[in-house]
Amino acid sequence: MTLEWQRDRDLTDANTLRLVCRADRYVAAETPEELQRACLVAHEQGWPLTVLGGGSNLVLGPRLGGLTVKPVFAQWWQESIDTDTVRIHADAGVTWHDLVMSVAQQGLWGIENLALIPGHCGAAPIQNIGAYGVELADVLESVEVLDPENGDLAVMSAADCEFGYRDSVFKRDLSGRAIITRMVLRLDRRACPRLDYGNLAECVGRPDPTALDVAEAVCRVRRDKLPDPTVLGNAGSFFKNPIVTAHHADALFHEYPELPHFALPDGRVKIAAGWLIERCGFKGVRQGAFGVHERQALVLVHHGGGEAAELLAFADDIARQVSERFDVMLEREPRVIGA
Ligand SMILES: Cc1cc2nc3c(=O)[nH]c(=O)nc-3n(C[C@H](O)[C@H](O)[C@H](O)COP(=O)(O)OP(=O)(O)OC[C@H]3O[C@@H](n4cnc5c(N)ncnc54)[C@H](O)[C@@H]3O)c2cc1C
Repeated sequence: MTLEWQRDRDLTDANTLRLVCRADRYVAAETPEELQRACLVAHEQGWPLTVLGGGSNLVLGPRLGGLTVKPVFAQWWQESIDTDTVRIHADAGVTWHDLVMSVAQQGLWGIENLALIPGHCGAAPIQNIGAYGVELADVLESVEVLDPENGDLAVMSAADCEFGYRDSVFKRDLSGRAIITRMVLRLDRRACPRLDYGNLAECVGRPDPTALDVAEAVCRVRRDKLPDPTVLGNAGSFFKNPIVTAHHADALFHEYPELPHFALPDGRVKIAAGWLIERCGFKGVRQGAFGVHERQALVLVHHGGGEAAELLAFADDIARQVSERFDVMLEREPRVIGA
């Protein structure tokens, strides 16, 4: 099959912030082989390569040079390991939320708390997606990766991925050097609800929920709290929750006892970035084409007609004011490309 190379492809609908962006060259790879071939051409030509999933964790500049490639192969299947455990194999192009709901419907436990996170399976390990007390790292067994320079495929274990909070080796040493083509998850047939985060137990509302009950409760909470990107452009949380030393946290709690936080096993403390932003007076504030969401201060929204540079300047202003007031540095969560 010949590859379909698209020139000057509009990516405005391909990123949930709905930033206007055009790609010099674009390939939607229908198979891992097409992905390999496209990457090898880009390497031979010396084109920079951008990998696109669902575009829900990206800030795109107005133009992407080189080649933008989107893996769209999207099969998934399951393999029984023993009476309790099932392996799920999912291609990069599978929509994460659809997978969550399908396995929850089958009574498989492990990813129900991660319902309604936008995006594709191929991107889920990049920032080790997490929500409601669960991270992908809790269930991920391995990933298959493609080396874009030579097209070689390799399997990496969960340990090789060096997962951390919204972090993995793919954001560090392997940035731009590995494309995830498939992932393998290990799920459980035995009920193991994790409802101790926020008011999730209350939202589930029954003592012995099914995995589907939990997934549906997570969807209700998220729909209530987060803007729908199909209605209002956004990339979810724009900043990570900062992690500070116990000493720094004590000083903050002394002045702000109500500051929401979570103690980490290593003694450090994760604090709520949304609360810091709200206390700086940004919640619901609009600046030009962008704004801070009125219900969730961690989410920056795009009202239309704006560009990445304006969004990044607004985000820098928020981070600067948080730093000046609390001596806490906010780190951006979405990846910035071409801006
Ligand atoms: C409303 C909303 C809510 C969100 N809630 C959460 C949340 O609760 N928890 C959370 O963790 N995240 C959340 N996110 C962020 C986002 O959904 C996740 O990070 C998601 O995994 C991104 O997937 P994607 O396919 O859209 O990736 P993209 O945005 O397309 O890409 C993200 C990064 O991954 C790279 N990439 C994409 N595919 C591959 C691949 N196959 N191989 C290698 N690199 C690849 C891209 O180059 C880019 O660097 C939210 C976003 C939105 C809009």
